[in-house]
Amino acid sequence: MIVEKIKCTGCGACVNICPKDCIKLEQDKEGFLYPKIDEEKCINCGLCRKICPSINYKEQAKTKERFKEPVVMAAFTNQNLIRLDSTSGGIFTELAKVFLNENEYVCGAIYDENWLVKHIVTNKLEDLEKLRSSKYLQSRTEFTFQEIKEKLNEGKKVFVCGTPCQISGLYAYLGNDYDNLITCDFICRGVNSPKIFLGYIENLQKKWNSKIKNIKFKNKTKGWHNFSTKIDFENGKTYIGSRYTDSYMVGYLNYNCFIRPCCYECQYKELPRVADITLADFWGIELISPEMDNDTGTSLVLLNSKKGYELFNKIKSFITYKESSIKDAMKGNACLFNSVEKKENRDKVFENIDKYSYEKLSKCFFPKPTGIKFIKLKLRLYIIELKKRVKVVLKK
Ligand SMILES: Cc1cc2nc3c(=O)[nH]c(=O)nc-3n(C[C@H](O)[C@H](O)[C@H](O)COP(=O)(O)OP(=O)(O)OC[C@H]3O[C@@H](n4cnc5c(N)ncnc54)[C@H](O)[C@@H]3O)c2cc1C
Repeated sequence: MIVEKIKCTGCGACVNICPKDCIKLEQDKEGFLYPKIDEEKCINCGLCRKICPSINYKEQAKTKERFKEPVVMAAFTNQNLIRLDSTSGGIFTELAKVFLNENEYVCGAIYDENWLVKHIVTNKLEDLEKLRSSKYLQSRTEFTFQEIKEKLNEGKKVFVCGTPCQISGLYAYLGNDYDNLITCDFICRGVNSPKIFLGYIENLQKKWNSKIKNIKFKNKTKGWHNFSTKIDFENGKTYIGSRYTDSYMVGYLNYNCFIRPCCYECQYKELPRVADITLADFWGIELISPEMDNDTGTSLVLLNSKKGYELFNKIKSFITYKESSIKDAMKGNACLFNSVEKKENRDKVFENIDKYSYEKLSKCFFPKPTGIKFIKLKLRLYIIELKKRVKVVLKK
Protein backbone atom coordinates (compact mmCIF):
# COMPACT_ATOMS: atom_id res chain seq x y z
CA MET A 1 0.00 0.00 0.00
CA ILE A 2 1.30 3.47 -0.88
CA VAL A 3 -1.08 5.48 1.28
CA GLU A 4 -4.17 4.65 3.38
CA LYS A 5 -7.05 3.90 1.03
CA ILE A 6 -9.24 6.64 2.50
CA LYS A 7 -6.62 9.26 1.58
CA CYS A 8 -5.86 8.07 -1.94
CA THR A 9 -7.27 10.38 -4.65
CA GLY A 10 -6.41 8.08 -7.56
CA CYS A 11 -4.40 10.90 -9.19
CA GLY A 12 -2.06 8.40 -10.85
CA ALA A 13 1.25 10.09 -9.90
CA CYS A 14 2.56 6.74 -8.54
CA VAL A 15 1.66 4.90 -11.76
CA ASN A 16 3.42 7.52 -13.85
CA ILE A 17 6.59 7.67 -11.70
CA CYS A 18 7.22 3.92 -11.16
CA PRO A 19 10.53 3.06 -12.91
CA LYS A 20 9.57 -0.62 -13.16
CA ASP A 21 6.04 -0.02 -14.41
CA CYS A 22 4.76 -2.24 -11.64
CA ILE A 23 1.88 -0.08 -10.35
CA LYS A 24 -1.54 -0.41 -11.93
CA LEU A 25 -4.80 1.25 -10.94
CA GLU A 26 -7.54 -1.26 -10.19
CA GLN A 27 -11.23 -0.61 -9.72
CA ASP A 28 -12.65 -1.41 -6.26
CA LYS A 29 -16.22 -2.46 -5.44
CA GLU A 30 -17.35 1.18 -5.42
CA GLY A 31 -15.97 1.76 -8.92
CA PHE A 32 -13.01 3.97 -7.96
CA LEU A 33 -9.42 3.28 -9.04
CA TYR A 34 -6.67 2.52 -6.49
CA PRO A 35 -3.01 1.62 -7.05
CA LYS A 36 -1.96 -2.01 -6.83
CA ILE A 37 1.74 -2.86 -6.70
CA ASP A 38 3.08 -5.98 -8.38
CA GLU A 39 5.30 -7.04 -5.47
CA GLU A 40 7.34 -9.40 -7.64
CA LYS A 41 8.41 -6.64 -9.99
CA CYS A 42 8.75 -3.94 -7.29
CA ILE A 43 12.38 -3.00 -6.40
CA ASN A 44 11.34 -1.07 -3.28
CA CYS A 45 12.83 2.20 -4.55
CA GLY A 46 10.20 4.09 -2.54
CA LEU A 47 9.60 6.70 -5.26
CA CYS A 48 5.81 6.20 -5.19
CA ARG A 49 5.60 6.97 -1.49
CA LYS A 50 8.16 9.77 -1.73
CA ILE A 51 6.09 11.72 -4.26
CA CYS A 52 2.52 10.73 -3.26
CA PRO A 53 0.70 14.07 -2.78
CA SER A 54 -1.72 12.49 -0.31
CA ILE A 55 1.31 12.06 1.97
CA ASN A 56 3.49 15.03 0.99
CA TYR A 57 1.24 17.80 -0.37
CA LYS A 58 1.89 20.33 2.38
CA GLU A 59 5.67 20.14 1.78
CA GLN A 60 5.29 20.07 -2.00
CA ALA A 61 3.01 23.14 -1.96
CA LYS A 62 5.72 25.29 -0.34
CA THR A 63 7.82 25.12 -3.51
CA LYS A 64 5.20 26.86 -5.71
CA GLU A 65 5.05 30.59 -6.27
CA ARG A 66 1.50 31.64 -5.50
CA PHE A 67 -0.12 34.93 -4.52
CA LYS A 68 -1.11 34.97 -0.85
CA GLU A 69 -4.61 35.99 -1.95
CA PRO A 70 -5.76 35.37 -5.50
CA VAL A 71 -6.98 38.08 -7.85
CA VAL A 72 -10.71 37.33 -8.17
CA MET A 73 -12.77 37.86 -11.32
CA ALA A 74 -16.31 37.27 -12.48
CA ALA A 75 -16.13 36.52 -16.20
CA PHE A 76 -17.74 35.01 -19.26
CA THR A 77 -16.80 34.58 -22.89
CA ASN A 78 -18.25 37.01 -25.42
CA GLN A 79 -19.04 34.10 -27.73
CA ASN A 80 -22.60 33.26 -26.80
CA LEU A 81 -22.63 29.78 -28.32
CA ILE A 82 -19.52 28.79 -26.37
CA ARG A 83 -20.95 30.27 -23.18
CA LEU A 84 -24.14 28.24 -23.67
CA ASP A 85 -22.17 25.08 -24.37
CA SER A 86 -19.88 25.47 -21.31
CA THR A 87 -20.59 24.62 -17.70
CA SER A 88 -20.21 28.12 -16.34
CA GLY A 89 -18.90 31.12 -18.30
CA GLY A 90 -16.78 29.29 -20.90
CA ILE A 91 -13.51 30.64 -19.57
CA PHE A 92 -11.82 27.23 -19.89
CA THR A 93 -12.42 27.34 -23.67
CA GLU A 94 -10.95 30.84 -24.00
CA LEU A 95 -7.86 29.86 -22.00
CA ALA A 96 -7.39 26.63 -23.96
CA LYS A 97 -7.71 28.50 -27.27
CA VAL A 98 -4.62 30.58 -26.43
CA PHE A 99 -2.60 27.34 -26.59
CA LEU A 100 -4.38 25.44 -29.36
CA ASN A 101 -4.32 28.45 -31.72
CA GLU A 102 -0.51 28.41 -31.46
CA ASN A 103 -0.17 24.67 -31.96
CA GLU A 104 0.69 24.25 -28.27
CA TYR A 105 -0.86 21.62 -25.98
CA VAL A 106 -3.90 21.29 -23.72
CA CYS A 107 -4.63 18.46 -21.29
CA GLY A 108 -8.21 18.01 -20.12
CA ALA A 109 -11.08 15.59 -19.58
CA ILE A 110 -13.20 14.00 -22.33
CA TYR A 111 -15.78 11.19 -22.46
CA ASP A 112 -14.38 7.92 -23.81
CA GLU A 113 -16.28 5.48 -26.05
CA ASN A 114 -18.10 4.02 -23.00
CA TRP A 115 -19.13 7.40 -21.57
CA LEU A 116 -16.49 7.15 -18.87
CA VAL A 117 -14.04 10.02 -18.52
CA LYS A 118 -10.31 10.23 -19.19
CA HIS A 119 -7.71 12.95 -19.63
CA ILE A 120 -6.04 13.51 -22.97
CA VAL A 121 -3.17 15.69 -24.19
CA THR A 122 -3.84 17.36 -27.53
CA ASN A 123 -2.79 20.21 -29.80
CA LYS A 124 -5.85 19.89 -32.06
CA LEU A 125 -8.38 22.72 -32.04
CA GLU A 126 -11.10 20.27 -33.10
CA ASP A 127 -10.76 18.46 -29.72
CA LEU A 128 -11.88 21.56 -27.85
CA GLU A 129 -15.57 20.72 -28.11
CA LYS A 130 -14.97 17.33 -26.46
CA LEU A 131 -12.86 18.93 -23.73
CA ARG A 132 -15.47 21.55 -22.96
CA SER A 133 -17.93 21.00 -20.07
CA SER A 134 -17.84 19.40 -16.67
CA LYS A 135 -18.21 15.65 -16.54
CA TYR A 136 -19.43 14.87 -13.04
CA LEU A 137 -17.56 11.62 -12.43
CA GLN A 138 -13.93 10.80 -11.78
CA SER A 139 -11.63 11.07 -14.77
CA ARG A 140 -8.68 8.70 -15.38
CA THR A 141 -5.34 10.48 -15.81
CA GLU A 142 -3.72 7.34 -17.31
CA PHE A 143 -0.19 8.18 -18.61
CA THR A 144 -0.90 11.85 -19.36
CA PHE A 145 1.63 13.03 -16.75
CA GLN A 146 4.41 11.30 -18.70
CA GLU A 147 3.11 12.79 -21.96
CA ILE A 148 3.00 16.28 -20.41
CA LYS A 149 6.58 15.95 -19.16
CA GLU A 150 7.74 14.89 -22.62
CA LYS A 151 6.08 17.92 -24.24
CA LEU A 152 7.49 20.28 -21.58
CA ASN A 153 10.99 18.91 -22.10
CA GLU A 154 10.60 19.48 -25.86
CA GLY A 155 9.95 23.15 -25.03
CA LYS A 156 6.23 22.98 -25.85
CA LYS A 157 3.74 24.96 -23.76
CA VAL A 158 1.14 22.86 -21.95
CA PHE A 159 -2.11 24.02 -20.32
CA VAL A 160 -3.54 21.40 -17.95
CA CYS A 161 -7.02 21.43 -16.42
CA GLY A 162 -8.23 18.95 -13.81
CA THR A 163 -9.33 18.50 -10.22
CA PRO A 164 -7.03 20.03 -7.57
CA CYS A 165 -5.84 16.53 -6.60
CA GLN A 166 -4.96 15.72 -10.22
CA ILE A 167 -3.01 18.98 -10.58
CA SER A 168 -1.24 18.25 -7.31
CA GLY A 169 -0.44 14.74 -8.60
CA LEU A 170 1.02 16.22 -11.77
CA TYR A 171 3.32 18.59 -9.84
CA ALA A 172 4.34 15.73 -7.56
CA TYR A 173 5.27 13.61 -10.56
CA LEU A 174 7.15 16.44 -12.31
CA GLY A 175 9.05 17.32 -9.13
CA ASN A 176 9.22 21.01 -10.04
CA ASP A 177 7.33 23.72 -11.88
CA TYR A 178 8.16 24.51 -15.51
CA ASP A 179 7.99 27.96 -17.13
CA ASN A 180 6.08 26.44 -20.07
CA LEU A 181 3.44 24.72 -17.87
CA ILE A 182 0.22 26.43 -16.79
CA THR A 183 -2.26 24.63 -14.59
CA CYS A 184 -5.96 25.18 -13.99
CA ASP A 185 -8.11 23.48 -11.38
CA PHE A 186 -11.68 24.13 -10.26
CA ILE A 187 -13.58 24.39 -7.02
CA CYS A 188 -14.58 20.77 -6.66
CA ARG A 189 -17.59 19.31 -4.86
CA GLY A 190 -16.07 15.81 -5.20
CA VAL A 191 -15.75 13.20 -7.94
CA ASN A 192 -18.47 10.59 -8.41
CA SER A 193 -18.13 6.85 -8.89
CA PRO A 194 -17.82 5.83 -12.56
CA LYS A 195 -19.65 2.59 -11.67
CA ILE A 196 -22.70 4.50 -10.41
CA PHE A 197 -22.57 6.74 -13.49
CA LEU A 198 -22.59 3.68 -15.77
CA GLY A 199 -25.64 2.38 -13.90
CA TYR A 200 -27.34 5.74 -14.41
CA ILE A 201 -26.73 5.90 -18.16
CA GLU A 202 -27.55 2.22 -18.74
CA ASN A 203 -30.85 2.80 -16.97
CA LEU A 204 -31.62 5.81 -19.18
CA GLN A 205 -30.67 3.91 -22.34
CA LYS A 206 -33.06 1.14 -21.35
CA LYS A 207 -35.89 3.57 -20.60
CA TRP A 208 -35.43 5.52 -23.84
CA ASN A 209 -34.72 2.38 -25.80
CA SER A 210 -31.74 3.94 -27.52
CA LYS A 211 -28.00 4.50 -27.22
CA ILE A 212 -26.78 7.85 -25.93
CA LYS A 213 -25.43 10.34 -28.46
CA ASN A 214 -24.50 13.23 -26.17
CA ILE A 215 -24.42 14.10 -22.46
CA LYS A 216 -24.41 17.66 -21.15
CA PHE A 217 -24.44 18.45 -17.47
CA LYS A 218 -25.61 21.95 -16.51
CA ASN A 219 -27.30 22.37 -19.86
CA LYS A 220 -28.68 25.89 -20.04
CA THR A 221 -31.90 25.43 -22.06
CA LYS A 222 -33.80 26.04 -18.81
CA GLY A 223 -31.18 28.37 -17.35
CA TRP A 224 -27.78 27.91 -15.70
CA HIS A 225 -29.30 28.16 -12.20
CA ASN A 226 -31.50 25.14 -12.94
CA PHE A 227 -28.64 22.56 -13.12
CA SER A 228 -30.27 20.65 -15.97
CA THR A 229 -28.82 17.46 -17.35
CA LYS A 230 -29.52 17.02 -21.06
CA ILE A 231 -29.05 13.70 -22.78
CA ASP A 232 -29.56 13.22 -26.51
CA PHE A 233 -30.29 9.72 -27.81
CA GLU A 234 -29.50 8.19 -31.17
CA ASN A 235 -33.25 7.74 -31.84
CA GLY A 236 -33.63 11.53 -31.90
CA LYS A 237 -35.23 11.78 -28.46
CA THR A 238 -33.95 14.03 -25.68
CA TYR A 239 -34.06 13.73 -21.90
CA ILE A 240 -33.79 16.81 -19.66
CA GLY A 241 -33.76 16.49 -15.88
CA SER A 242 -33.26 19.24 -13.31
CA ARG A 243 -31.39 19.14 -10.02
CA TYR A 244 -34.69 17.98 -8.40
CA THR A 245 -35.81 15.46 -10.98
CA ASP A 246 -32.61 13.88 -12.28
CA SER A 247 -31.66 11.04 -9.93
CA TYR A 248 -27.90 11.36 -10.55
CA MET A 249 -27.90 15.08 -9.74
CA VAL A 250 -30.13 14.47 -6.72
CA GLY A 251 -27.68 11.83 -5.44
CA TYR A 252 -24.71 14.12 -6.08
CA LEU A 253 -26.08 17.43 -4.80
CA ASN A 254 -28.62 16.45 -2.11
CA TYR A 255 -27.09 13.28 -0.67
CA ASN A 256 -23.33 13.43 -1.57
CA CYS A 257 -23.66 9.69 -1.60
CA PHE A 258 -21.41 8.41 -4.37
CA ILE A 259 -18.32 10.60 -4.26
CA ARG A 260 -14.84 9.21 -3.66
CA PRO A 261 -14.07 8.63 0.06
CA CYS A 262 -11.11 11.07 0.12
CA CYS A 263 -13.37 13.91 -1.11
CA TYR A 264 -15.07 14.11 2.31
CA GLU A 265 -11.72 15.25 3.75
CA CYS A 266 -10.23 17.06 0.77
CA GLN A 267 -6.88 18.66 1.61
CA TYR A 268 -7.08 21.20 -1.23
CA LYS A 269 -9.78 23.41 0.28
CA GLU A 270 -7.42 26.24 1.08
CA LEU A 271 -5.56 29.27 -0.18
CA PRO A 272 -3.19 29.49 -1.90
CA ARG A 273 -4.64 27.06 -4.42
CA VAL A 274 -2.57 24.35 -6.04
CA ALA A 275 -3.07 25.56 -9.65
CA ASP A 276 -2.15 28.80 -11.42
CA ILE A 277 -5.82 29.46 -12.17
CA THR A 278 -8.98 28.19 -10.46
CA LEU A 279 -12.35 28.15 -12.22
CA ALA A 280 -15.81 27.71 -10.73
CA ASP A 281 -19.40 28.81 -11.06
CA PHE A 282 -19.88 32.32 -9.68
CA TRP A 283 -22.97 31.45 -7.62
CA GLY A 284 -24.47 34.59 -6.13
CA ILE A 285 -23.18 36.87 -8.90
CA GLU A 286 -26.78 38.08 -9.40
CA LEU A 287 -26.53 39.76 -5.99
CA ILE A 288 -23.08 41.23 -6.36
CA SER A 289 -23.08 42.35 -10.00
CA PRO A 290 -26.50 41.62 -11.54
CA GLU A 291 -25.28 42.92 -14.91
CA MET A 292 -22.90 39.92 -15.06
CA ASP A 293 -25.73 37.37 -14.84
CA ASN A 294 -28.22 36.55 -17.57
CA ASP A 295 -28.65 32.92 -16.44
CA THR A 296 -26.38 31.51 -19.15
CA GLY A 297 -23.38 31.04 -16.86
CA THR A 298 -20.78 33.22 -15.17
CA SER A 299 -17.39 31.89 -14.17
CA LEU A 300 -15.59 32.63 -10.97
CA VAL A 301 -11.90 32.95 -11.83
CA LEU A 302 -9.15 32.93 -9.22
CA LEU A 303 -5.76 34.03 -10.52
CA ASN A 304 -3.37 32.38 -8.11
CA SER A 305 0.02 33.16 -9.61
CA LYS A 306 1.85 35.56 -11.92
CA LYS A 307 1.61 32.98 -14.71
CA GLY A 308 -2.14 32.67 -14.20
CA TYR A 309 -2.55 36.45 -14.13
CA GLU A 310 -0.58 36.87 -17.37
CA LEU A 311 -2.60 34.16 -19.14
CA PHE A 312 -5.86 35.83 -18.09
CA ASN A 313 -4.56 39.13 -19.58
CA LYS A 314 -4.26 37.37 -22.95
CA ILE A 315 -7.99 36.55 -23.10
CA LYS A 316 -9.32 39.88 -21.82
CA SER A 317 -10.33 41.11 -25.28
CA PHE A 318 -12.49 37.99 -25.84
CA ILE A 319 -14.41 38.06 -22.56
CA THR A 320 -16.49 40.26 -20.27
CA TYR A 321 -15.03 40.47 -16.77
CA LYS A 322 -15.30 42.36 -13.52
CA GLU A 323 -12.94 42.27 -10.56
CA SER A 324 -14.47 40.87 -7.38
CA SER A 325 -13.23 39.65 -3.99
CA ILE A 326 -12.63 36.35 -2.25
CA LYS A 327 -15.29 37.38 0.30
CA ASP A 328 -17.92 37.56 -2.44
CA ALA A 329 -16.69 34.33 -4.03
CA MET A 330 -17.04 32.47 -0.71
CA LYS A 331 -20.63 33.55 -0.15
CA GLY A 332 -22.07 31.39 -2.92
CA ASN A 333 -19.46 28.66 -3.07
CA ALA A 334 -19.11 26.73 0.18
CA CYS A 335 -16.95 24.13 -1.57
CA LEU A 336 -14.11 26.64 -1.88
CA PHE A 337 -13.12 26.03 1.73
CA ASN A 338 -15.25 23.05 2.82
CA SER A 339 -15.54 19.41 1.84
CA VAL A 340 -19.07 18.08 1.55
CA GLU A 341 -20.51 16.09 4.44
CA LYS A 342 -20.66 12.29 4.37
CA LYS A 343 -24.19 11.13 5.17
CA GLU A 344 -25.30 7.65 6.26
CA ASN A 345 -26.83 6.82 2.86
CA ARG A 346 -23.40 6.59 1.26
CA ASP A 347 -22.58 3.33 3.05
CA LYS A 348 -25.99 1.94 2.12
CA VAL A 349 -25.51 2.78 -1.57
CA PHE A 350 -22.23 0.89 -1.76
CA GLU A 351 -23.34 -2.00 0.46
CA ASN A 352 -26.04 -2.66 -2.12
CA ILE A 353 -24.38 -1.60 -5.35
CA ASP A 354 -24.00 -5.16 -6.66
CA LYS A 355 -27.38 -6.35 -5.33
CA TYR A 356 -29.71 -3.60 -6.52
CA SER A 357 -30.34 -2.12 -9.94
CA TYR A 358 -29.48 1.58 -10.33
CA GLU A 359 -33.20 2.39 -10.27
CA LYS A 360 -33.68 0.57 -6.97
CA LEU A 361 -30.54 2.11 -5.45
CA SER A 362 -31.80 5.58 -6.30
CA LYS A 363 -35.35 4.94 -5.03
CA CYS A 364 -34.06 3.54 -1.72
CA PHE A 365 -31.08 5.73 -0.92
CA PHE A 366 -31.21 8.94 -2.94
CA PRO A 367 -34.87 9.45 -3.77
CA LYS A 368 -36.04 12.46 -5.72
CA PRO A 369 -38.03 14.90 -3.63
CA THR A 370 -41.75 14.33 -4.27
CA GLY A 371 -45.13 15.55 -2.93
CA ILE A 372 -44.96 17.86 0.08
CA LYS A 373 -41.17 17.47 0.23
CA PHE A 374 -40.83 18.70 -3.36
CA ILE A 375 -43.22 21.61 -2.82
CA LYS A 376 -41.38 22.59 0.38
CA LEU A 377 -38.02 22.48 -1.40
CA LYS A 378 -39.28 24.53 -4.33
CA LEU A 379 -40.91 27.02 -1.96
CA ARG A 380 -37.71 27.34 0.08
CA LEU A 381 -35.69 28.03 -3.06
CA TYR A 382 -38.31 30.46 -4.31
CA ILE A 383 -38.13 32.40 -1.01
CA ILE A 384 -34.32 32.44 -1.10
CA GLU A 385 -34.46 33.74 -4.69
CA LEU A 386 -37.06 36.35 -3.76
CA LYS A 387 -34.99 37.54 -0.78
CA LYS A 388 -31.97 37.89 -3.04
CA ARG A 389 -33.93 39.96 -5.58
CA VAL A 390 -35.34 42.21 -2.84
CA LYS A 391 -31.82 42.75 -1.47
CA VAL A 392 -30.61 43.79 -4.93
CA VAL A 393 -33.47 46.28 -5.31
CA LEU A 394 -32.84 47.73 -1.82
CA LYS A 395 -29.11 48.04 -2.59
CA LYS A 396 -29.93 50.17 -5.61
C1 LIG B 1 -16.35 16.88 -10.65
C2 LIG B 1 -16.54 18.37 -10.67
C3 LIG B 1 -16.99 19.03 -9.54
C4 LIG B 1 -17.17 20.42 -9.55
N1 LIG B 1 -17.63 21.07 -8.41
C5 LIG B 1 -17.84 22.40 -8.45
C6 LIG B 1 -18.31 23.11 -7.29
O1 LIG B 1 -18.59 22.51 -6.25
N2 LIG B 1 -18.49 24.45 -7.39
C7 LIG B 1 -18.20 25.14 -8.53
O2 LIG B 1 -18.38 26.35 -8.56
N3 LIG B 1 -17.72 24.51 -9.62
C8 LIG B 1 -17.53 23.16 -9.62
N4 LIG B 1 -17.03 22.54 -10.73
C9 LIG B 1 -16.51 23.35 -11.86
C10 LIG B 1 -17.56 23.86 -12.81
O3 LIG B 1 -18.49 22.85 -13.07
C11 LIG B 1 -16.93 24.28 -14.16
O4 LIG B 1 -16.18 23.24 -14.69
C12 LIG B 1 -15.98 25.39 -14.05
O5 LIG B 1 -16.68 26.46 -13.51
C13 LIG B 1 -15.36 25.71 -15.43
O6 LIG B 1 -16.36 26.05 -16.31
P1 LIG B 1 -16.03 26.59 -17.76
O7 LIG B 1 -17.33 26.96 -18.36
O8 LIG B 1 -14.98 27.66 -17.71
O9 LIG B 1 -15.31 25.40 -18.52
P2 LIG B 1 -15.76 23.95 -18.92
O10 LIG B 1 -15.79 23.87 -20.38
O11 LIG B 1 -16.93 23.53 -18.18
O12 LIG B 1 -14.48 23.14 -18.38
C14 LIG B 1 -14.06 21.95 -18.98
C15 LIG B 1 -12.78 21.42 -18.39
O13 LIG B 1 -12.96 21.07 -17.02
C16 LIG B 1 -12.19 19.90 -16.74
N5 LIG B 1 -13.06 18.78 -16.32
C17 LIG B 1 -14.33 18.50 -16.68
N6 LIG B 1 -14.75 17.38 -16.10
C18 LIG B 1 -13.72 16.90 -15.38
C19 LIG B 1 -13.52 15.77 -14.57
N7 LIG B 1 -14.48 14.88 -14.34
N8 LIG B 1 -12.32 15.61 -13.97
C20 LIG B 1 -11.32 16.49 -14.17
N9 LIG B 1 -11.44 17.58 -14.93
C21 LIG B 1 -12.63 17.79 -15.52
C22 LIG B 1 -11.55 19.42 -17.98
O14 LIG B 1 -10.22 19.58 -18.16
C23 LIG B 1 -12.39 20.09 -19.06
O15 LIG B 1 -11.67 20.19 -20.21
C24 LIG B 1 -16.87 21.15 -10.73
C25 LIG B 1 -16.43 20.46 -11.88
C26 LIG B 1 -16.27 19.09 -11.87
C27 LIG B 1 -15.78 18.39 -13.12
